[in-house]
Amino acid sequence: MSAEIIDGRAFALKVRSRVTAQVTTLKKQHGLTPGLAVVLVGDDPASHVYVRNKNIATVEAGMKSEEIRLPDTASQEEVLEIVARLNADESIHGILVQLPLPKQVDEKAVLDAIDPIKDVDGFHVINTGRQAVGLPAMVPCTPVGCIMMLKDKLGDLSGLNAVVVGRSNIVGKPMASLLLGENCTVTIAHSRTRDLPEVCRNADILVAAVGRPNMVRGDWIKPGATVIDVGVNRIDGDNGKTKLVGDVCFDEAKEIAGAITPVPGGVGPMTIACLLANTVKAACRASEIEEPAYS
Ligand code: NAP
Repeated sequence: MSAEIIDGRAFALKVRSRVTAQVTTLKKQHGLTPGLAVVLVGDDPASHVYVRNKNIATVEAGMKSEEIRLPDTASQEEVLEIVARLNADESIHGILVQLPLPKQVDEKAVLDAIDPIKDVDGFHVINTGRQAVGLPAMVPCTPVGCIMMLKDKLGDLSGLNAVVVGRSNIVGKPMASLLLGENCTVTIAHSRTRDLPEVCRNADILVAAVGRPNMVRGDWIKPGATVIDVGVNRIDGDNGKTKLVGDVCFDEAKEIAGAITPVPGGVGPMTIACLLANTVKAACRASEIEEPAYS
C-alpha cells in the first residue's frame, strides 16, 4: 500500500487565493486594507527566511505588510515599545513576533503585551483560554492548517482516535484542543509517555509535533491512518548538503498510512496561508465586519 500524499502547497495556494479575493472585497466594499506587522529580533537565519516568506505572501494577498527588525542585543523594553506602537496603529490588524527571542527578552511578557484582537499567532493567554472554552478566538496558525487538511481529507472527524505527539503551547496543546472540538477522542503524548509506539498505533489521526527527525517509525502507525507531520528538522544529506525532514520516517510511514503530509510541502505552507487568513479575520473583527469562513 502507498499512502496518499497530502499536498500542503496546493492546499495553501487555494486558501491564499480565497484570502486574496476576500482582501479585494474588503478594499472595495469597506475601504479596508488588512495589515500585518512582523517583528524580528536577532539574526537567526531560519527566522529570517520565515519572515521574508511571510512578507512576500502578505503583499501577494494585497495586504499591507510591515517588517520591523531589531538587533540581537535589543532589550525587552525596546521590543515592548514596538509592540505598543503596533497595538496603537489602526492600519495594522495583525502582529506577529517571530520566535525564538533572544534570552534577555521575556517571551511571555512580549506575547502578553500584544493586543489579543491583533494576536494573529493566537499565542496570547486570552486567546488560548477563549479557544479552550469554545469562544471565538485567534487560533494558532499551524494547528488550524492541520485541521483544515484533515477535514478536507476525512470529512467529519467525529469519533476518530487522534494522538498528538508533543504538548507545546504553540502546536501540541492547541492541536489537541481543536481535535477535541471536532469530536475526536484525543490523546496527548510527550516525552514521558510510556510505550509511545503502542499509543501511536491506536491513532486514526496521528499528529507528530516533536522536533526529532524521523522519530515516528512505520510500525508505529495504524494501517490506513492519516498522518500529519508538523516537525521541521534539518539533517545532513548527500554530498555534504543538508536537508529538511519531519518527525515521521516518511519512507516507512507512506507504506502503512492512508494519507500523510510530506516535509517539506505539507504543514509549513498551510501555516503561512492560515496566518494571512487570521489577519483578514482580525481586520474584520476590528471593523465589526462579518468574518469570512475558511474551513
Ligand atoms: P517544542 O516546544 O520543543 O515541543 C516538543 C514536544 O515534543 C514537547 O512536548 C516534548 O515533550 C515532546 N517530545 C520531545 N521528545 C519526545 C520524545 N522522545 N517522545 C515524545 N515526545 C517528545 O516544539 P514545537 O514548537 O511544538 O515544535 C515541534 C516541531 O514542529 C519542531 O520540529 C518545529 O520546528 C515544528 N514546527 C513546524 C511548524 C510548521 O509550520 N511546519 C510550526 C511550528 C513548529 P515534553 O513536553 O515532555 O518535553
